Amino acid sequence: MSENIRLKKIEQELSHIEGLELSRNVSAKILTTFKGGGDVQLMISPKNLTALTLAMRVLKAENISPLIIGKGANTIIDDRGISTPVLSLAAFSEIRKIGNLVVAGSGCSGVELMRFSKNNGLTGLEFLAGIPATVGGLVFMNAGAFGTEINDKVVECEVLNHDLVSKIKPEFSYRKGVFEGILLSATFNLDFSTPEEIEREIERNIAMRRKKQPTEPSCGSVFKAVDGVPAAVFIEETGLKGLRIGGAEISKKHCNFIVNVGNATASDFLKLVELIQTTVHYEFGAKLEPEFVVLKDDEKNLYEL
Ligand SMILES: Cc1cc2nc3c(=O)[nH]c(=O)nc-3n(C[C@H](O)[C@H](O)[C@H](O)COP(=O)(O)OP(=O)(O)OC[C@H]3O[C@@H](n4cnc5c(N)ncnc54)[C@H](O)[C@@H]3O)c2cc1C
Repeated sequence: MSENIRLKKIEQELSHIEGLELSRNVSAKILTTFKGGGDVQLMISPKNLTALTLAMRVLKAENISPLIIGKGANTIIDDRGISTPVLSLAAFSEIRKIGNLVVAGSGCSGVELMRFSKNNGLTGLEFLAGIPATVGGLVFMNAGAFGTEINDKVVECEVLNHDLVSKIKPEFSYRKGVFEGILLSATFNLDFSTPEEIEREIERNIAMRRKKQPTEPSCGSVFKAVDGVPAAVFIEETGLKGLRIGGAEISKKHCNFIVNVGNATASDFLKLVELIQTTVHYEFGAKLEPEFVVLKDDEKNLYEL
């Protein structure tokens, strides 16, 4: 069966599910903060857990494991586009507090989470200021800044896996949260403070970001640190800063960012990535590992039979 006919069949089956929004051919310009790359042929946006569970059953019957996207702030979408359906959990954005614990849905933005905590006099998430993210992306990437990682604050997560919702604590390592399934929500353990004090810390962090980071579209830091040494230290020495391929440029402001300076494609971005990796390896013997995620059609998106 051709991919197109298969997608139409899936779309038709999904269209019977109440509380499921389906969108066709959604551009990476909308879905990612890099604002370049291919289209997602079928986006699935469930409004509630029932719709999500039913959609997953339809996909599983077709032997498809969907991809997931949050704010797309660490994501590059293959220029050829993706025929694997992509899930958005934007509607899972509920947020509440129980004492000093904050429980946030996976679609809740990092900034909303931080602001909600601040308004309730709860400190610990100020490092999220200026990080575009959803709770799902923060946990999956174990996002961190200014010496704090999401790992330090997460006490428990709710995940959906094969029709079952369970509570787990992911295994965290540097820029990686390992869990099976779809993250539905996360619980954060915070300390009490005053909204004024928390706001001061947020302002400090935002000011620091403004000074150091570019404002053009990007997917954040491109490479992970190598044994604690920031990737920018190596890239700076290569003299590649400012180099452009197509519409992508190694940022002059922060060389571990690749920015979209005008209609950059995923391929422009990935060519620069490869060039940096090869140069840094040749000059310093260091192996730079990507921090970003590439969404593409892959055999791994199929359920194992
Ligand atoms: C200007 C800028 C500054 C940044 N600064 C930082 C920084 O200081 N520190 C830092 O760590 N990162 C930073 N980033 C990168 C990015 O913001 C983080 O990695 C963020 O956590 C990504 O969240 P997201 O929702 O956009 O995830 P996406 O990019 O949408 O997804 C990332 C991965 O998470 C998976 N995922 C998302 N939701 C779920 C879910 N519900 N269940 C299972 N898997 C899921 C996706 O499948 C994908 O593999 C920055 C990015 C930008 C553009």
